[in-house]
Amino acid sequence: MAKPRRNWIQEERRKTLGDWVAFCLDCGHILRYFLEGEAELPARCPQCAGELRHRCPSCSAPIASAFAVDCEECGEPVRSAQLFGVQIRRPGR
Ligand SMILES: [Zn+2]
Ligand SMILES: [Zn+2]
Repeated sequence: MAKPRRNWIQEERRKTLGDWVAFCLDCGHILRYFLEGEAELPARCPQCAGELRHRCPSCSAPIASAFAVDCEECGEPVRSAQLFGVQIRRPGR
C-alpha cells in the first residue's frame, strides 16, 4: 500500500488547533496555539498546574512539534526526554 505523502488529519488539526505547541513540564499535557493567541495561553497547566513551556528556553523559538525534545532552531533541549520514558512523574511528588 502506498504511503500518503502527508497526513491530512495532522494537517487539518494543525490548521484548526494551532501551528505551535505548549507543553507541561510536569505531566506532558499538550496545548496547541496560534502565535496570535499566544497571550491567551494559560501560565499554568490546566491539568496539574505545572509549568507550561511554549518557547525554547535558550532562543525563544516557538515549538512546532508536540514530540519535540530538542529545539529546531538552536538544538538545545526544550524538555526532559524522560517524559517519553517510563518515569513521567518526578520523584518526590
Ligand atoms: Zn501538567
Ligand atoms: Zn532554541
